Amino acid sequence: MVIKIGVIGVGMIGQDHIRRCTQVLNGCEIVAASDINLEHVQSVLKKYNIKGKAYTNGHDVISSPDVDAILVTSSGPTHEEYVLAAINAGKPVFCEKPLAVTAEGCEHIVKAEMKAGKRLVQVGFMRSFDACYRKLKQTLTEGNLGEPLIVKCVHHNLTVGDSYTTDMGVTDSMVHEFDILRWLLDDDYQSIQVVSPRRTKHALKGVQDPQMVLLKTQKGILISIDLFVNCQYGYDIRCDVVCEEGIAYMPSPLQVKTRTKGQFGEHVNSDWRERFIVAYDIELQSFIDNAKNNIVAGPSAWDGFVASKTAAAGMLALKSGQITPVDLPKCPAFYRK
Ligand code: NAP
Repeated sequence: MVIKIGVIGVGMIGQDHIRRCTQVLNGCEIVAASDINLEHVQSVLKKYNIKGKAYTNGHDVISSPDVDAILVTSSGPTHEEYVLAAINAGKPVFCEKPLAVTAEGCEHIVKAEMKAGKRLVQVGFMRSFDACYRKLKQTLTEGNLGEPLIVKCVHHNLTVGDSYTTDMGVTDSMVHEFDILRWLLDDDYQSIQVVSPRRTKHALKGVQDPQMVLLKTQKGILISIDLFVNCQYGYDIRCDVVCEEGIAYMPSPLQVKTRTKGQFGEHVNSDWRERFIVAYDIELQSFIDNAKNNIVAGPSAWDGFVASKTAAAGMLALKSGQITPVDLPKCPAFYRK
């Protein structure tokens, strides 16, 4: 069986997922796509040699009888509307992060999905499909290191574009950390604080970079995330977990280490596409394979909601500099794993 996919939004990640679906993954076919500009959609379909239909309205993709499943890869503010429409149509939908731009928007989606009575939404948090994070979780779960006490994370980007703002550190960059650390520790957050060191000379005017995010979980684990988006040397994601009986360091993706000319070296990734390329493949293949069996799994609308609630608390913390509570309602039984 081949899952017929409709894509809404053919910008950077939309095209990357189209490339994946047409050149890497199996069991799927792109049959429709939409974006604001019709010529842009047509040119993307042509580029990937796709015979599907081009639309300017995402709702036409969702209602098309040719389409079995939807990929929402348009700009963040459009996600809520399209995901709600896909749920209404009873079609599985893979939505890139953020699920919605506000926690209230995510809550609308959670309610609609529960009303539909079955999971239809997978959120594009790809890190839990990454082999390095999986190995780290397996090590922690095996229990030889005792209980986790402190987690030290690094989130460094080589550099960021002119449109990057201080707020985006919390709302865009940190959401991946907010999602993966709950998954890794099987825990939820109690509070968040954002503190600012001295600014790098490489930050654009008015942008605070680096920032340090401190989270306390409900089990009492303390997490520090060193966010530095103009670090100048590469894209570097690290996660060390200090436990009662030892420390677990997340392994690097497959890298050859070199010794030459008196130096010891290892390649540093240039961006998130290079670091997580296999994880993106696995997350989307899993969405397709599950759709064939009428199942939706992976990061859920509830996970999207919690990431959004944590980001909202993070924004308050950023403005106040204070330790700020993350008020999360109890996870409904519908979403409990
Ligand atoms: P992008 O390059 O700007 O692409 C978004 C596309 O959606 C643009 O072509 C935009 O058209 C189009 N669009 C806007 N409104 C639309 C609508 N109502 N219907 C259909 N298309 C519409 O952005 P991107 O970098 O691909 O990001 C897209 C989403 O993916 C964002 O939410 C982003 O946070 C997420 N993302 C996730 C990851 C990850 O690691 N999981 C990585 C990158 C991006 P115009 O340009 O004409 O507005």
